Amino acid sequence: MNDISIELVKRTSKVVLPDNLLFGRTFTDHYFEMDYSKEKGWHNAKIKPYSEFPVSPATMVFHYGQAIFEGLKAYKQIDGKIAVFRPEKNFERLNNSAERMCIPKVDEKFILKAMMELIKIEQDWIPTKKGYSLYIRPFIFGSDPILGVKPSDEYKLMIILCPVGPYYPQGFKPVPIYVTDQFVRAAKKGIGECKTAANYAASFAGQAEAKKEGYSQVLWLDGIEQKYLEEVGAMNIFVQFKDEVTTPMLNGSILPGITRLSCLQILKGWNYNTTERLISINEVIDSYKSGNLVEMFGTGTAAIISSVGRLKFHDTILQFNEDKAGELSTKLYEELTGIQFGEIEDRFGWMTYLD
Ligand SMILES: *Cc1c(COP(=O)(O)O)cnc(C)c1O
Repeated sequence: MNDISIELVKRTSKVVLPDNLLFGRTFTDHYFEMDYSKEKGWHNAKIKPYSEFPVSPATMVFHYGQAIFEGLKAYKQIDGKIAVFRPEKNFERLNNSAERMCIPKVDEKFILKAMMELIKIEQDWIPTKKGYSLYIRPFIFGSDPILGVKPSDEYKLMIILCPVGPYYPQGFKPVPIYVTDQFVRAAKKGIGECKTAANYAASFAGQAEAKKEGYSQVLWLDGIEQKYLEEVGAMNIFVQFKDEVTTPMLNGSILPGITRLSCLQILKGWNYNTTERLISINEVIDSYKSGNLVEMFGTGTAAIISSVGRLKFHDTILQFNEDKAGELSTKLYEELTGIQFGEIEDRFGWMTYLD
């Protein structure tokens, strides 16, 4: 396809990372950008200095929300190699989101190559400490500068990079989760399985309700009966019963997480009885009461694994180990971060290395 034009900033000094790397606040010197038009398809691929860009107030995405994104991470491994976790899965998912949102698909191989090129230029921005990484945010939005309720004719794809610190600076800590049946995040045949901006806007009211009650995240139930577990904010959810580790099956309203998929693969390799099925909130509560529920955890790129410390639904509070992460959560966290940081052999071939 097209070549990438590269315009570099003049760096006068070495990259100095801030001590306190809050998520999504620090951006690297450059970003990748590509345009789409009906005549030319995807074209004008370039890496250029990070900057603001002019947009028309009529830009389509502001009005009709045609926007999709991805989130993945590059790691500086213990031997100094730079590696990205399963990027081909992210670009495959980006194209699935694109299809549902009537956005033109991208050449997955080309965009992967462009991302690796950008990371190569920005490698000094990747923190070296364990738990730190470079968060990669590819996104596409409808950029036609006209109003009209229809898919945009023009799009922009961008990739921006943020060095990020560990999700749990005080160590791997369990999180309190609030189950709501007052709001719905997504419905089957809707857009729940796409990483699209609207899903997050739809989730904020429920998120605010959880915060007010002292909980950090919402566990969403299904859109029809508000009875079956779906997922948590930006994480998929797992439940460990005494003889089974299970996660809600992908049904069209759940985001197919790459960390979720990786956990299923690891668990199968460890000979756990792993299933993907319907899990009702009542089954969770009843199993807790009967002593059959061992632990629950969330999976996602940002935190990798989040152990559930407490779960509230209506007046029922399930109390897990409040200060200590669950055994299986911890084991999975160590396995995944071990593979990502090159401490554990990459037996699945998940890491893509910078050459
Ligand atoms: C990104 C995301 C996840 C987790 O996906 P990963 O690929 O594991 O990072 C789960 N749920 C939602 C709603 C998400 O946006």
